Amino acid sequence: MVTKPVPVVKTDRCQGCSNCVMACPLNQRMDKRIIEGEAPKSDNVVLRVKNGACRVLNGKLCAEKDFECRRCEEICPRGAIRVTGELS
Ligand code: SF4
Ligand code: SF4
Repeated sequence: MVTKPVPVVKTDRCQGCSNCVMACPLNQRMDKRIIEGEAPKSDNVVLRVKNGACRVLNGKLCAEKDFECRRCEEICPRGAIRVTGELS
């Protein structure tokens, strides 16, 4: 399987706003409450803010998705998340 790039967060630039967390279509699919504006409460999502910064918790799901997306990167006001990483 050809995998897509995954998001990488520069935590020193991240302000923990959760814009990326709320905009990620995979996050929305995995936790429907996100669509209603609630931040995820479990680690069963791709992106989640923990201890003040965004964490990539399930990058594999982003790498293996069947659609193009850079929404997290596009919505970040700080340029702190880039969809350039390789699945490790
Ligand atoms: S690239 Fe898209 S699917 Fe992947 S983490 Fe960012 S917003 Fe979510
Ligand atoms: S990576 Fe950007 S959009 Fe996501 S929480 Fe951090 S500052 Fe906000």
